[in-house]
Amino acid sequence: TVLSNTQSRGNINVVVRVRPLHEKENTSNNRNVIKISNEHTVVFDPKEEDDPFFYHGVQQKNRDIMKRANKNLSFSFDYVFNEDSSNEMVFEGSTKSLIDTLMKGYNCSVFVYGATGAGKTHTMLGSQDDPGITFLTLMELFKQKEALQNEREFEIGMTYLEVYNETVQDLLNPGTPLSLREDAKYGVIVAGIKMHRIEDSNILFDLLAQGNRNRTQHPTDANTESSRSHAVFQVYLRMKVKASNEISTSKLSMIDLAGSERGAATGFSGARFTEGANINKSLLALGNCINSLADGRKHIPYRDSKLTRLLKDSLGGNCQTVMIANISPSALNYEDTYNTLKYAMRAKKI
Ligand code: ADP
Ligand code: MG
Repeated sequence: TVLSNTQSRGNINVVVRVRPLHEKENTSNNRNVIKISNEHTVVFDPKEEDDPFFYHGVQQKNRDIMKRANKNLSFSFDYVFNEDSSNEMVFEGSTKSLIDTLMKGYNCSVFVYGATGAGKTHTMLGSQDDPGITFLTLMELFKQKEALQNEREFEIGMTYLEVYNETVQDLLNPGTPLSLREDAKYGVIVAGIKMHRIEDSNILFDLLAQGNRNRTQHPTDANTESSRSHAVFQVYLRMKVKASNEISTSKLSMIDLAGSERGAATGFSGARFTEGANINKSLLALGNCINSLADGRKHIPYRDSKLTRLLKDSLGGNCQTVMIANISPSALNYEDTYNTLKYAMRAKKI
């Protein structure tokens, strides 16, 4: 048997999205540290061309001696989206195909990973005029539901929560922290969370935006818009085949992960040190679970963090996973970009 490319690659797709430079980054002395060679390959810290007139026609004397060597590292992924890619293009090339898997009764998960400011929320949520992949993926789900409605009955519910400081909070009905339970029939469940029935797209974007506004945001030394919480949007699908009364359930989880920058970059004092430590704990645990799955190990350390406990039934096995690594092309984010590419490479081996 010849395995198709998708089968041999396993059930995780890892893509990279490079955001455009911001206005203030777009200056002549701000080097771009990302070069996209083709749709699968990105070069980090590329070697500059050996052209004496490279810098705006001004000959640079001894510049090879003055500067450190470029890393010039090639990373390959399932796809690399460039600065000009729209949310629509990212959706088409990453999460659209998950709906088939969901319709077959298997769980799916989507992660956006990257440092604060790299474009995670732009990718996931977007704006009313330029909706992100969560909205677009749900539109596709509604479309396929319409197409199948003669044969199947559907029930669709959604929840939106955050994992912050290793506690779980309902983003659509904020209150006391919630606890995780394992249910024989439904898998991992969040006790007491409010499930929202959704029939169509009308209220969807508003619900997403409302939940996002309820995320815990703390101004930090590094970036005032820093977000230290993991936002987890989950869609529960229950289908009954009319002819046979056969019932199947599946779940889609879409996670806007907390910024992956190190605690060191955001200051170390009082309560915020714990926050940083806990966020690293969840991101670290996620990386370790994905890596253990990739290595085919028996023991997967799901219990090491709230996030991985929550997603235990949505990683590995027959589940389909998409990881979107968001990066900035600016030299100002050199370390973060390098770390994100390395984390994403680790995920690719499943
Ligand atoms: P994060 O959620 O990773 O912290 P954001 O999604 O908030 O980052 O992005 C930071 C800023 O960059 C926002 O102002 C956002 O609108 C902008 N941005 C990010 N990605 C893109 C993109 N692909 N195209 C245009 N603007 C973007
Ligand atoms: Mg964000």
